[in-house]
Amino acid sequence: METWSIRTMAPEETMVFAEKLGALVQQGDVITLEGDLGAGKTSFTKGLAKGLGVKKVVNSPTFTIMKQYKGRIPLYHMDVYRLENEYEDLGFEEYFYGDGVTVIEWPSMIVAQLPQDRLKITIEYKGESERLIMIEATGSRSSELSKELAV
Ligand code: ADP
Ligand code: MG
Repeated sequence: METWSIRTMAPEETMVFAEKLGALVQQGDVITLEGDLGAGKTSFTKGLAKGLGVKKVVNSPTFTIMKQYKGRIPLYHMDVYRLENEYEDLGFEEYFYGDGVTVIEWPSMIVAQLPQDRLKITIEYKGESERLIMIEATGSRSSELSKELAV
């Protein structure tokens, strides 16, 4: 499936882009965020949360694996960086196929447990305030989402 990208020149630009995605997501959507430490995964999630109407401040869930926020639909924000092993099952499916949208930082840790159809976002560090954001759909729903986001 087609991959496209956008370049941002400031954290605010990344957040505005993610905010647009937050306005488009529906229940059951799964968004994965890949990229090195400091790439902007959590910043992206903050913007997405804003687009979802989340009022609380979104912080990295590093020490809890998952944090849940109330928005237009629930937001399940996961950071699976600290999982012991890739097969550790913390009941992820309940969230993936639940009534909200799931955003996962470091998805490679649990790739075997992820749903097949997901919007894959990769953020690449290009300079102090420049990032390349790549978007890839892996199924029919994420493809639809990707097209709406590209408009
Ligand atoms: P991650 O969750 O990937 O570790 P964070 O979102 O916590 O990354 O941190 C990204 C850092 O990079 C923040 O300090 C943010 O202000 C900075 N930054 C600089 N330029 C950008 C940009 N264009 N997009 C996103 N973040 C940026
Ligand atoms: Mg983070």
